[in-house]
Amino acid sequence: MAEILLKNAYVIDPISGINGEIMDIAISGENIVEEASNKAEVIDAQGFLTLPGGIDSHTHISGTKVNFGRYMSPEDMRAGRTWRRGPMHVTSGYSVPTTYGNSYRYSALGYTSIVEGAMAPLEARHTHEEFIFTPLQDSFANTLFDGNWGMLKALEDGDLKRAAAIVAWFLTAVKGFAIKLTNPGGTEAWGFGNNVSCINEQMPTFDLTPADIIRGAVRINEMLHLPHSVHLHCNNLGTPGNFTCTLGSLGLVPDLNKKRQTLYATHVQFHAYGGSGWADFCSKSEPIANMVNLRPQIVIDMGQVMFGRTTTMTADGPMEFNLYRLHHDKWSNHDVELETGSGIIPVNYRRKNLVNSIMWAIGLELALLVKSPWQCLLTTDNPNGAPFVKYPEIIALLMSKKYRDAECRTIHPDTEKRVPLHAIDRELDWYEIAVMTRSGQARALGITDIGKGHLMPGAEADIAIYPIAVDEIDPAIDYEKVISGFSKTEYTIKRGRVVSRRGDAVIHGENTTFWVKPKVPEAYDMQHDEDFRSLFERYYSVRMSNYPVQEEYLHRNYCIETETDL
Ligand SMILES: [Zn+2]
Repeated sequence: MAEILLKNAYVIDPISGINGEIMDIAISGENIVEEASNKAEVIDAQGFLTLPGGIDSHTHISGTKVNFGRYMSPEDMRAGRTWRRGPMHVTSGYSVPTTYGNSYRYSALGYTSIVEGAMAPLEARHTHEEFIFTPLQDSFANTLFDGNWGMLKALEDGDLKRAAAIVAWFLTAVKGFAIKLTNPGGTEAWGFGNNVSCINEQMPTFDLTPADIIRGAVRINEMLHLPHSVHLHCNNLGTPGNFTCTLGSLGLVPDLNKKRQTLYATHVQFHAYGGSGWADFCSKSEPIANMVNLRPQIVIDMGQVMFGRTTTMTADGPMEFNLYRLHHDKWSNHDVELETGSGIIPVNYRRKNLVNSIMWAIGLELALLVKSPWQCLLTTDNPNGAPFVKYPEIIALLMSKKYRDAECRTIHPDTEKRVPLHAIDRELDWYEIAVMTRSGQARALGITDIGKGHLMPGAEADIAIYPIAVDEIDPAIDYEKVISGFSKTEYTIKRGRVVSRRGDAVIHGENTTFWVKPKVPEAYDMQHDEDFRSLFERYYSVRMSNYPVQEEYLHRNYCIETETDL
């Protein structure tokens, strides 16, 4: 087995309790080991900042809606072209790059695992096929259940075990990783041209409210012992005054799991808005952060907005329609039958636009006001708030008040009256950044036991070495060096192999897709349930047997089997 000895690394590995030690790391084959033999290839890390590989717990990089985003914006495709060199394919696209474009750019930033934020079961094959061509990161797929008729019917009937069995069947069939709820109740209503406006509003097709769906999904998740918690995109995304709905959603969730959170609320920047309309739009990051600080059962991610062009894409079809009515530019919309929806709109976030400036501030405020970095993870909801290539700038903004102040002088001048950002002095340190970009993400996803997000012997050898000499940089002042240091790793190591060097991929690579299979007893195996089968016969355009995604679509994959309480 190939061995590597990484010498003189400046290691921060929060899960192992290591905060800035110069040490050696030994790798044998795909894993970190106690020590290497004298045959190991030696890499001198020169005291550079060395972290577990980056993990993005919420991004959109694969599947039908991402691909439609590519079609919709030929100008975006032209913006990011790179030519063939070494083992690297041609890439194109800036906010929605080609699959290889995503993979190389994430690898340059030191990222080794990514979670596709929203996979519709009906369209799962496309997601898995694109994972194969994103070879330098391991992949996970959040699976959409917000409008799943089988699950909703069982919830309406008050049969939680049946609802759990249906979720288990879908996750296993489509090789999904976690339960994703996008605007629960709202995407189902959108199939009929409607939406829901708060968590206690009745949805049109089932005798259920969004609150019922969230509560039910949370309990299903724990019955199935899934590694990750329910992954929630709250109702009313992007609407002034939506923070009350967000607080209501977070308030529904009891603390049910000792190892991880009970609810992961995603891109909370888009859900922390005050005001009664755009005229008095303002930040409500403080009440949201206060609530998260009081509830260890909640983890959120930022969904940071950065200025410039990007593409919004979400399963939240009605929200994208509202966005279209604001922008009156090109848009697409899609209802995925009996499951969910989606919409796509290219946008340009402008510094001189007051609403955009407030949105920019809110994401940063959440990360600075939530006390524990384990509870607020770094994302842009790529590419919704910004393309992920902006992560180094976001890290620098969180580490430097000076940088934030410099940026604040360039945004809309009225922003200061509407947001608390200017009064926040907190500057995050290297350890907190490591938590927000890998260790916290691994713990929130529940994947530390399978060797992700840490560097203990036995872990997968996913490592990012940044050309940052921590002792020589004051991140509060030298923010330009923080940006450049996090923009290109010196080495990115994926499963024991150097895959990127100074920004370029050096091998073709091969990823692994992780999926879950809850072990259900015979009586709850939906494969043989006539009522469940007839749901497809009666309402779907495809049959039940069309759903299962064969293993050929995944190449290398790892099934996480879970015990269940069914
Ligand atoms: Zn998303």
